[in-house]
Amino acid sequence: MQFRDLHRQYEILKSDIDYAIQKILTETNFISGYQVRKLERQLAIYAGTKNCITCGNGTDALTLALMVWKIGTGDAVFVPDFTFFASAEAPAYEGATPVFVDVEEDTFNMSPSSLEEAIIQVKKEGKLRPKVIITVDLFGQPADYSEIKRLAEKYDLLILEDSAQGFGGCIGGKRACSFGDISTTSFFPAKPLGCYGDGGAVFTDNKEWAELLKSYRIHGKGTDKYDNVRIGMNSRLDTLQAAVLQVKLKAFQEYELEAVNKAAEKYTRKLEGLEGWVKTPLVKPDYLSSWAQYSILLKDETIRNNLQTFLKNRGIPTMIYYPKTMSQQYAFKGLDCIKVGLPTAQQLCKRILSLPIHPYITESEQDEVVKSIEEFMKKERNILQ
Ligand SMILES: *Cc1c(COP(=O)(O)O)cnc(C)c1O
Repeated sequence: MQFRDLHRQYEILKSDIDYAIQKILTETNFISGYQVRKLERQLAIYAGTKNCITCGNGTDALTLALMVWKIGTGDAVFVPDFTFFASAEAPAYEGATPVFVDVEEDTFNMSPSSLEEAIIQVKKEGKLRPKVIITVDLFGQPADYSEIKRLAEKYDLLILEDSAQGFGGCIGGKRACSFGDISTTSFFPAKPLGCYGDGGAVFTDNKEWAELLKSYRIHGKGTDKYDNVRIGMNSRLDTLQAAVLQVKLKAFQEYELEAVNKAAEKYTRKLEGLEGWVKTPLVKPDYLSSWAQYSILLKDETIRNNLQTFLKNRGIPTMIYYPKTMSQQYAFKGLDCIKVGLPTAQQLCKRILSLPIHPYITESEQDEVVKSIEEFMKKERNILQ
């Protein structure tokens, strides 16, 4: 069994993907082919934003957004403590100070009350200028935008939506990648919409920012690549990746998002019997997740680790997203950053376990996962009672 079965996806999409790749090999337009611009239009329409600017990867997407806003030394950027490293790395790379914010146990996403506490603390200390909230749509579910937008307005902050894992998620009818003043995603192969290498995109309704993004991603270009009006970077999505993404976006829209939601519902239904031992992930009413991960919570670290070993011995791969919080990372030890109370994020690292999930997982694979967890728990219960 695979944790995320990209091979099965390829088998199904093979003829379309092979055709799209072969076409580019023939046309040899490897960089900035028309497929890139076409994909950008399709992505913008899907996300419901006016502009989409593709780039080299999801980390660059975050960096590009921060460059547009000129975020740097002396600026406070609020980041959830429980996320992939890049969410906090990008602001630190730009010289800003990450301020780590605790998350909610139910959704794993940024806690608005912890966010407000952190904003108030930074303002009180008066050393940094509070500038940006980086919200992360963790594991596929959009963050709590109604509350976070209220706080952003109250304290005059910009929202940078890191939707690397959230592409396809919704609140009401509104899609992920449209919630931030600028939003970003990643096309790393294992994300909800993945390519066959590195890739990323930035979304915004703001025309001026969109123009700046197009410049920054190609060496700060002015009228062309050899007219350079600002210091930028080299971060483009190549044509091969754009062509692969066009095929995959179609499948994602037509059935993958629905299929992965069916699989998630099935896990939740089947694991109900283990209530008190296994906490299944909550999707809030009116929210839709794109299930980058299906993550359960166990009672404690020992049970979690033992369950992971038990499943591994049966050929069932699982992952721990994430073993460390941002503020526990060694990279932030000597660096300027702010940590307030972060108890939930730290607890999650000990208790979380992500199960195999993807649009092509079969009923019998899911049954095998659930049966194995049940069996393990039966043994645990006997020891503990
Ligand atoms: C994967 C990921 C990124 C970075 O994306 P890359 O394309 O790997 O650079 C950023 N933020 C989050 C939350 C991610 O999961």
